[in-house]
Amino acid sequence: MPVQLTTLSQSSLQDYADCARRFELRYIQQLSYPAIETEPALENEKHQQEGEYFHRLVQQHLVGIPAEQVIKLANTPNLQRWWDNFLPFNQSGLASLTRRLPEVALSAPLGNFRLLAKYDLIGLAKDGRAYIYDWKTYRRRPKDEWLHTRLQTRVYRALLVQAGAHLNGGVPFEPEQIEMVYWFADFPSEPARFVYQRDQFKRDWDALTRLAEEITPADAFPLTEDRAKCSYCPYRSYCNRGTRAGEALDVELETEAEELFDINFEQIGEIAF
Ligand code: SF4
Repeated sequence: MPVQLTTLSQSSLQDYADCARRFELRYIQQLSYPAIETEPALENEKHQQEGEYFHRLVQQHLVGIPAEQVIKLANTPNLQRWWDNFLPFNQSGLASLTRRLPEVALSAPLGNFRLLAKYDLIGLAKDGRAYIYDWKTYRRRPKDEWLHTRLQTRVYRALLVQAGAHLNGGVPFEPEQIEMVYWFADFPSEPARFVYQRDQFKRDWDALTRLAEEITPADAFPLTEDRAKCSYCPYRSYCNRGTRAGEALDVELETEAEELFDINFEQIGEIAF
């Protein structure tokens, strides 16, 4: 039974931009993926779960749990390596922040929807700048050009301007105050940084509004014409686009595949300390 969708997020908008049919299957029909049975898919799923667990470890540390306690929970080689990489970044890269706000959720009206985003960390600096941090556990480091066009980069910065006034003494942030930083747990010295500007904010918000308007009356959700998107899509069997995952993906396609399997924060249980 189709559901009435009331909220949009960077991931649902990204799905819509990548393939309207995927958006329909995932968010309107809410179909779960067919069972994952192949080894690479199981491996991917394990990697994603570790990635989500790493997010929890960082969040718990940022709210005050001592590192010595958190390290005990980094109990796989990936988690240990990511945690070892995070600690120096925490001590240097985040040291100048005067306020650290982990897992802030913001929302604002967008057409007939509410646009929602949950941030890994918003950091406020003494000079009035606001830094959006997002932790990524990708296996490979995608290009900045690809990250720049992702809806996450556009939604997170625009929504902080649109809905973040309460974090800035009641005054909306100027786009020029905002910078987004993707920090890669396996490439700790190669973060991707994206500053913001007023004209870019206007372009982003106009584009997001147009997307939301397009979705509202949409009664047909066509299959993407870019068949490369199907090569890793878990809905292939619903679309007659093959049953086996493609191989030899390039970095960006592989990263898109990792994002697609991302588990929602809300689905992750709290870690007991
Ligand atoms: S298999 Fe292809 S057409 Fe079908 S939902 Fe996935 S990306 Fe879209």
